[in-house]
Amino acid sequence: MNTNQQIAENIARIQGEIGGRARLLAATKTIPPETINFALDCGISLIGENRVNELLEKYEYINRNKTEIHFIGALQTNKVKYIIDKVDLIQSVDRESLALEIERQAAKHGIVMPILAEINIGGEESKSGITPEKIYEFCDFLTSLPHLRLKGLMAVPPKCEKSEDNREYFRKMSKIFIDISGKNVDNSIMEVLSLGMSNDYLTAVDCGSNLVRLGSAIFGARVYPAADR
Ligand SMILES: *Cc1c(COP(=O)(O)O)cnc(C)c1O
Repeated sequence: MNTNQQIAENIARIQGEIGGRARLLAATKTIPPETINFALDCGISLIGENRVNELLEKYEYINRNKTEIHFIGALQTNKVKYIIDKVDLIQSVDRESLALEIERQAAKHGIVMPILAEINIGGEESKSGITPEKIYEFCDFLTSLPHLRLKGLMAVPPKCEKSEDNREYFRKMSKIFIDISGKNVDNSIMEVLSLGMSNDYLTAVDCGSNLVRLGSAIFGARVYPAADR
């Protein structure tokens, strides 16, 4: 993991690169709360966590009044209840059963939960997400649920080496995003296109992403606990 000074420099550099074009989300899996809080002091105002258990462990130590929290990882239906009152938006809504459970829990808490629909843009079998062919139908379903608010789309394209490698996928996503926005679906405000990670965020922004999710570009290479390897 990087030193605080490196983290501060990375955040300043990346903010300069993306400018006003996209919002910077710090992907904070494996990052301890004190480092997250340092990043918040450097101007980060949005973090993303991937795992329910890790989020719950870290939650009370995170400087919550300085940041929004998005859930960005694979989400088991039976764990929605643990995060429903802790996150500001769930980016990884990838199936009807998950949407229904978020609807149920949000209703129970008397809130409306903002969400993004996750698309499996690379058509990878190992990845979750709705296929591009089914996304319109899925968005119709999402907007029929009164305690969800569809705010946009996210995708995790195939792992890449060079920033340019995923341009084709980002273009496809951008096209779908524009198509759906143009339909003016009731009960939705398509404003977030969440695309781009440490290796490809400049290309993603170039293709219209307005929210990039960066982990290692900010914090350095992740060190996973031994049990997770
Ligand atoms: C870990 C993660 C990221 C950030 O990955 P980096 O390559 O470290 O930038 C972004 N999005 C999701 C969904 C992630 O799980």
